[in-house]
Amino acid sequence: MSEQFDLVKEQLLRERQALLLEVSDSYETCREIGQDGVPDIGDMSSAAYSRDVLFNVSETKRQRINDIDVALLQIEKGEYGICMECGEEISPRRMEVRPFSRYCIECKTNIEKLGTQS
Ligand SMILES: [Zn+2]
Repeated sequence: MSEQFDLVKEQLLRERQALLLEVSDSYETCREIGQDGVPDIGDMSSAAYSRDVLFNVSETKRQRINDIDVALLQIEKGEYGICMECGEEISPRRMEVRPFSRYCIECKTNIEKLGTQS
């Protein structure tokens, strides 16, 4: 494994750790909101709204954690930076911007056009 991958791995692990903390933080907040049991209808709907927002945020973060897990696995397999769709090398520039990219720009665009999961 090259030193470059070591750095990426370190970076990904750090980001993963930070995300995990944030996700568990939002869950805590969700629970607190849920436990308030406010009788007022207006308050209740705003609590539900906050819960939904928090839930969506943590969904995004969980998705991100999943992306990072895949990237880490790719590093282990020595396939990091290789497009999972076409097997071509993903441009280093793209990997720099989004270190957990699974697809090259072309495949990513195609996948998004088809509306399937990234
Ligand atoms: Zn591709």
